[in-house]
Amino acid sequence: MILEARRIRLLMKLRRSGVTDHRVLGAIERVPRELFVPDAFEDQAYEDIALPIGLGQTISQPLVVALMTQALMVDELHKVLEVGTGSGYQGAVLAKLCRRLYTIERHRDLLTVAEGRFEKLRLHNVTTRHGDGMAGWPEQAPFQRILVTAACGTSAPPPALTDQLAVGGVLVIPMGDDRRQQHVVRFTRSDSGLEREELWPVRFVPLVPDLPDAAAGAP
Ligand code: SAH
Repeated sequence: MILEARRIRLLMKLRRSGVTDHRVLGAIERVPRELFVPDAFEDQAYEDIALPIGLGQTISQPLVVALMTQALMVDELHKVLEVGTGSGYQGAVLAKLCRRLYTIERHRDLLTVAEGRFEKLRLHNVTTRHGDGMAGWPEQAPFQRILVTAACGTSAPPPALTDQLAVGGVLVIPMGDDRRQQHVVRFTRSDSGLEREELWPVRFVPLVPDLPDAAAGAP
């Protein structure tokens, strides 16, 4: 089956699985996922599965990308922060929906490849940074939306991220220590504090503090 037919089949599956926001479906339709996976996996680019991208990391499953994007409720006026650029796929989907995307990745090699993809797709509203996304991006704060694509522990999201969330802003983050016990959690900032909603169970690679070269032997 050609990629185009597979892409349509995937979009139908996303719709059946609860992705109802037409803007999100449109963004997924317009981002060629085959450009974000290693060549050896090109024929699986439109399967609804996570795939390895090197350095022990993965490009997220399309359904998870779609549901997290939908949960974030992004619009074209928003300044959005993504933590965990990885392949760049989730970032490219967000870039189609928001005014400006800031995305941070701790692995320099992954970031360089992702930057090439953003350029190739002419996503000129994306700004990247190599660093520890747990510190957020203070110079650009506040953000109307923050999406974290790696799981943090159970207790609370990184304080820098909630601090950098605008009033009325939304943070979507997978939480949970154990890979089998993670949930996507949505935080909404109001004048009086943060409202927390547990959305659905999920499996993500962990959010890791600092840079890989900052401590010998770090993952
Ligand atoms: N959004 C990505 C998913 C990548 S997996 C995609 O669509 O492909 C999660 C990514 O988060 C990995 O690349 C990992 O290196 C990165 N990551 C983990 N902890 C991080 C941190 N503290 N700061 C920045 N990136 C981090």
